[in-house]
Amino acid sequence: MARAMGTDERSGACLCGAVSVRLPRAMCDVGVCHCASCLRWNSGPWMSLQAPGATVSGDALVVYRSSAFAERGFCGRCGTHIFHRPQDGPEIAVSAGLFQHVELHIAREIFFDAKPPFYRFVADSEKRSSASMAREWLPRLLIRRMRRWLRRLR
Ligand SMILES: [Zn+2]
Ligand SMILES: [Zn+2]
Repeated sequence: MARAMGTDERSGACLCGAVSVRLPRAMCDVGVCHCASCLRWNSGPWMSLQAPGATVSGDALVVYRSSAFAERGFCGRCGTHIFHRPQDGPEIAVSAGLFQHVELHIAREIFFDAKPPFYRFVADSEKRSSASMAREWLPRLLIRRMRRWLRRLR
């Protein structure tokens, strides 16, 4: 039912249709996250599209602060996982499985060193380690958090 409503490749929805996502443009690069949090969240790696500018709508959306810097959104009615995003900043990754886009392919795998041995993908993708993710993201997120605190002090 939900799938029928989102007929084009930029529209996606949860299982029950209460939460929908609209991409700013068609996207096909899937990122796979092997981190321990995603594994617990999904019972497997999380596959997502980096989609800044995506709009998420629906009253059933629940947002959960999953770490010091990030939050995860899911449908409070059917439980479908919708997004992961930093608490500060414009980035948002939305679940790739919400979309029926035939061109979807695995472009990168992150936290690759955290991947448990019981599965693997054959995709010839870019592999990023936990250390390289931390080097890229921690300084950026700390600076954003400090800016937010400073704005609050003014
Ligand atoms: Zn739902
Ligand atoms: Zn993850």
